[in-house]
Amino acid sequence: MSVYLVGAGPGAADLMTLRAARLVARADVVIHDRLVDASVLATVRSDAVVIDVGKRRGSLPTQRSINETLVDFAKRYECVVRLKGGDPFVFGRGGEEWLALNEAGLVAEVVPGVTSALSGPLAAGIPVTHRGVSRGVIVITGHGANGDFIDVAGLSRGDLTLVILMGVESRARLARDLLEEGRGADTPVAVVERAWTHRQLTTRSTLDNLADLDVDAPAVIVVGEVAALDFSGVLEAARVGGA
Ligand code: SAH
Repeated sequence: MSVYLVGAGPGAADLMTLRAARLVARADVVIHDRLVDASVLATVRSDAVVIDVGKRRGSLPTQRSINETLVDFAKRYECVVRLKGGDPFVFGRGGEEWLALNEAGLVAEVVPGVTSALSGPLAAGIPVTHRGVSRGVIVITGHGANGDFIDVAGLSRGDLTLVILMGVESRARLARDLLEEGRGADTPVAVVERAWTHRQLTTRSTLDNLADLDVDAPAVIVVGEVAALDFSGVLEAARVGGA
């Protein structure tokens, strides 16, 4: 019995690591969430058991019931892959699932993935750092576990890039807090929806307009001078689904 917590990458199947792709193609059971792209699921064995724990049927399954499902299948099948969007340990609750398996006496192997936090901006041609423009990047979630908001004090330095995951809903509040902390109203902002999928959409604006943008989750929000850069020309060949 082997169980793996696998990062599926941000979208297109060919952005999975080779290790992830081999495991997904081999798995007897694949338990995935909503963020995993159809192109990735298309690489699952046709006779594998595929379980979507991210489907909005009434209400989302709780983390506890996901953990239970995982433990249950891991005990019964030879090769179980828990497939998560991006990297399993970047806001993916991979740690919690790893611990739940561990408590049940199972040791999961973790396979890293290309996180949307760093690759999402690039899908729109935005480098998260750029010499002379940004000397670092901070990744935060806009969504607290208990509805609490992150304190942005100290996160508003002009020479840093801020990447916000799960921030679409709370973008008005985040923008207001960042402006209050002294980040300039004209700071470039980009929202990249469904990066590296066929439905990718980029909206560019400035911090004082972030609240009013017509954008939907899942999206990464980039705040900082790099959000005004555009290297997308070099990406055309690689953009959709892997040419
Ligand atoms: N583990 C994931 C993140 C999970 S949190 C990772 O490493 O990428 C879920 C959030 O990730 C979404 O709300 C969104 O902010 C971001 N996200 C994941 N995939 C994305 C994609 N293809 N395009 C844009 N944002 C994405």
